[in-house]
Amino acid sequence: MNIAPAFGIYIHWPFCAKKCPYCDFNSHVQDNIDQDIWLNAYLNELRHYANETSERLVTSVFFGGGTPSLMAPRVIEAILAEIQRLWPCSDTIEITAEANPSSSEIQQFQDFRQAGINRLSIGVQSFNDPALRFLGRRHDAGEAKKAIEAATTVFERFSFDLIYALPGQTPDIWQKELKEALSLAGGHLSLYQLTIEPGTEFHKARVEAADEEIGSTLFEITQELMTEAGLPAYEISNHAKPSQESRHNLVYWRGQDYLGIGPGAHGRLTGNYQTEMMHNYREPNKWLERVASHGFGQQKRTVLSAEERRDEIILMSLRLQEGLSSAHFKALTGLNLADQLDPDRLNALENEGFLSFNDNILKATPEGRQRLNAVLAHLLA
Ligand code: SF4
Repeated sequence: MNIAPAFGIYIHWPFCAKKCPYCDFNSHVQDNIDQDIWLNAYLNELRHYANETSERLVTSVFFGGGTPSLMAPRVIEAILAEIQRLWPCSDTIEITAEANPSSSEIQQFQDFRQAGINRLSIGVQSFNDPALRFLGRRHDAGEAKKAIEAATTVFERFSFDLIYALPGQTPDIWQKELKEALSLAGGHLSLYQLTIEPGTEFHKARVEAADEEIGSTLFEITQELMTEAGLPAYEISNHAKPSQESRHNLVYWRGQDYLGIGPGAHGRLTGNYQTEMMHNYREPNKWLERVASHGFGQQKRTVLSAEERRDEIILMSLRLQEGLSSAHFKALTGLNLADQLDPDRLNALENEGFLSFNDNILKATPEGRQRLNAVLAHLLA
């Protein structure tokens, strides 16, 4: 399989109306956000990076957060106009925004479409009201369904997220919810297991995720139902009809280059087989100050060693059903994939049924993808 060149731009909006108790993203609740100051800072950071990347063809833009659907549509429009002024953009460019199903955001869907968004990713999380309350969400199941209906009429492509493996969730409950999701779905669904991350309210309250056995039963049910419905997993937690995959997220998983704009965003730029990693200041006001004083909000820029780059590519691409081909690895690094793998470790993982390396494609098996961290720890030790 030939992988086409791609170059993505990620824009991070760091604000939410409320902090969810499970969330460890760079999201903050703040009153009185001056959208013009933010717009100006985004434009400045884009211009800074355009100086060194203006030859690249932009294939995707992703507004993530936080809750980027709280951005004024005119801010989104102005950012997209500047991207088009600074870079050549693909005719088939994918422009995604994340949105929450609150009624005020639903009313803006048409404005987002007019601003240039052509794919919406909705944070539904559940169709069950008690589960939504447990997750600290501000919407109910009715609003979630209204948001999906509105997205169906406004956007040519949309996706929504659900969280499963909640405490007490049984296979029956999840199966019912997933069937409901499938009856409403477009071409893409993201299905994540609840994890309790350090620093979150759930972690402080010692909330426990479902135990491993239930988690893997629910994961198996998910794979089975989604495959039957024609939206198989193309990544551990992401499912799509053919050609409906998130092109922007594929950029990350395939080890391709992207810019990260906004607080805490990170990017990768490669030239002559050397990849640089960029990290922005995470705290929103610190990032704003740096952009005001330096024109961009970068905290760190380092060249990845050959080993770090190899590990990153393998780690990301084994999340994908398609795996990693030797040809793609060579195109990214100039190196032979087979030479980079320890044959004994690879053999052991192949014999245990967690990995395969056939026809020059390294892949995690479904069992391997389910315990990918352990597989990678052994492969890349
Ligand atoms: S809406 Fe999303 S980004 Fe914001 S706090 Fe909740 S989970 Fe985090």
